[in-house]
Amino acid sequence: MLLPKFDYHEPLSVDEACQIMSDLGEKAKPLAGGTDLIVNMKKKILSPEHLVALSRIEDLRKIELLNGSVRIGACVTAAELAESQEIKRGLGALGQGAGILGSPLIRNLATVAGNLVSARPAADLPPPLMAYGAEVVLKSRRGERTLPLETFFQGPGQTLLEIDEILTEIIIQRPPESAGAGYIKLGTRKALEISLVNVAAYVALDSSGTTIEAARVVLGAVAPTPLRSPSAEKLLIGEKVDPSLFEKAGQAAAKDSRPIDDFRGSAQYRRDMVAVLTRRALNMALEQARRA
Ligand SMILES: Cc1cc2nc3c(=O)[nH]c(=O)nc-3n(C[C@H](O)[C@H](O)[C@H](O)COP(=O)(O)OP(=O)(O)OC[C@H]3O[C@@H](n4cnc5c(N)ncnc54)[C@H](O)[C@@H]3O)c2cc1C
Repeated sequence: MLLPKFDYHEPLSVDEACQIMSDLGEKAKPLAGGTDLIVNMKKKILSPEHLVALSRIEDLRKIELLNGSVRIGACVTAAELAESQEIKRGLGALGQGAGILGSPLIRNLATVAGNLVSARPAADLPPPLMAYGAEVVLKSRRGERTLPLETFFQGPGQTLLEIDEILTEIIIQRPPESAGAGYIKLGTRKALEISLVNVAAYVALDSSGTTIEAARVVLGAVAPTPLRSPSAEKLLIGEKVDPSLFEKAGQAAAKDSRPIDDFRGSAQYRRDMVAVLTRRALNMALEQARRA
């Protein structure tokens, strides 16, 4: 499969990239790792006249700690996330998601921003990022805005990103010591697998280590966008930890999910798996919170 013809731009700064995006409008698309975009161009699903490569912009490749927040540059790859000590320390569920995305080859190319902007319902990075309450920073010649990640997704392949905007970084407030999170993905194969269902869970315990002060449960591949489960979260917050609580939270999450039947699995199977995976992800989160 041959690529359609395009002009290639290689800006060295975010400002330069924004200028090019502003000048070219709908004719241009940002290019990061290319694992979605180039595949779609080869399949003739997309044929932008211009590609604006972001890979040489150093500012987009860093993971930084700043005033209690972790700032992840748009072009940090899944492999870098999975190996980063900053991520392992306190943001382990994100490292887990990054570490099982695709294959080693894909992880070396796939960037965090590309994974978010592609807005695949089954993608591996949105659930753990949403579980940590991440925000995204979008920049253009017109200015900069910061949005909660959970408002960014609008449907399969659709986000709030405007045509001239670049996603520059993801900001996560470092979770308290008493918090933990877990991420689990279910597929039919062990590698190179698109999730049938995936779940990320976050819990923060009170000072006694027995009561849940904050909780987020995020479900992937069971709705047009990654989805928080308000019923499960409501059930968990303010309650003392015990195994039957996580069982009930799993059932509540299953009710909040909106899966479809397709050739990879039935809606009922996916709903059942949401209950199981939610319980397991909550147990992973609790274990991590207690270890801290
Ligand atoms: C074989 C294979 C296996 C895969 N397995 C998985 C998997 O298990 N889990 C999973 O989640 N995904 C998987 N993917 C999908 C893919 O690898 C990810 O979505 C990847 O993270 C996309 O990032 P990228 O850097 O390659 O993006 P690109 O392909 O470069 O770009 C994707 C889209 O995002 C836009 N974009 C990129 N960066 C920016 C930015 N900074 N600002 C604005 N727009 C931007 C591009 O214009 C394009 O529209 C797989 C893909 C392949 C080919």
